[in-house]
Amino acid sequence: MDEFNLIQKYFTWNKTPRDVVTAVGDDAAVIEIPPNKQLVTSIDTLVSGVHFPENTPPDAIGHKALAVNLSDLAAMGASPRWFTLALTLPEIDETWLEGFSAGLKELAQQHDCFLIGGDTTRGPLSISIQVMGVVDTGKALLRSDARVGDKIYVTGTLGDAAAGLQSIFSKDNSSNKNNNKKSVLEKEADKVCQKHLNMPTPRIVESNIIKHFASTCIDVSDGLLQDLTHILEASGVAAELDSTQLPLSSALMTLVTDNTEATQLALTGGDDYELLFTIPESREANFVGIVKGKAKVTCIGVITDITENQNTITDENGNILTNIDKYKGYNHFHV
Ligand code: ADP
Ligand code: MG
Repeated sequence: MDEFNLIQKYFTWNKTPRDVVTAVGDDAAVIEIPPNKQLVTSIDTLVSGVHFPENTPPDAIGHKALAVNLSDLAAMGASPRWFTLALTLPEIDETWLEGFSAGLKELAQQHDCFLIGGDTTRGPLSISIQVMGVVDTGKALLRSDARVGDKIYVTGTLGDAAAGLQSIFSKDNSSNKNNNKKSVLEKEADKVCQKHLNMPTPRIVESNIIKHFASTCIDVSDGLLQDLTHILEASGVAAELDSTQLPLSSALMTLVTDNTEATQLALTGGDDYELLFTIPESREANFVGIVKGKAKVTCIGVITDITENQNTITDENGNILTNIDKYKGYNHFHV
């Protein structure tokens, strides 16, 4: 199979949407930007062994390569439209390609995001996707607009992907409790957390609601504290987080030794791809009313004045967490 057949077979979508003048097969793609919209674009590369474990199933790799990009669009409040794919393959392995393109296509079609072109080369496995979306002019959700009093919210649950990674890499496969044999419950929890890691759900649906209310938004890819710090620095504010409000899944709670480990994973674990956003107090009641039943969101803290306060994380007694070692590397926070 040569490169052209490969592209034709695995990366040519059936029906071309109206806003695509020409896509795969010409020298470059031509697309139509709707009036009163701005183009929002982002690129992310996944390298085998770095961004996913080498034995990750190909459909999960296809899914994740697009999901992490869609997550960036969600964080901007943008609607996905098109993407390009630069694929570096060590060999032409049709079983792998079939799985990869199926995982990619399923997520792409779910979000009406159309593959308009790419590049195919030989080398160590690596996948770059550049995604493009649109947002109403002037309405992109930036990091710089958080104000004192805004509530800090997060979608979904935190720390699951980190727990999934931990269980993949735990040598004796018994990261949990004191026995080597995993119970049915633990195996099920493993599966749930590994699914979060390998097949993250980009929060496009949630973003569609959040974008009407939020002052800032970011997706959590490097750990909650790390990503919150980006909002705080860009906006020139501080934050007070309530550690007891962190949304933790029952799967995570099954896999960890205690509450402290769960909190640690939720605050610092990567690859969650949840949205972290701020809601001005004046819009909070409205937001809560509209989001109810449509998306899982949790208030975990409040934006405070940087001149009066440091960043803090409180425990169940309202005391400031003091064990800094547990959150090493995230020293913007006074914990
Ligand atoms: P050129 O040599 O003109 O850059 P290529 O041979 O790289 O063209 O690609 C031919 C066509 O196939 C182009 O339209 C390109 O966008 C598309 N293409 C190449 N690789 C991929 C891929 N992995 N996925 C989707 N489209 C691809
Ligand atoms: Mg090319």
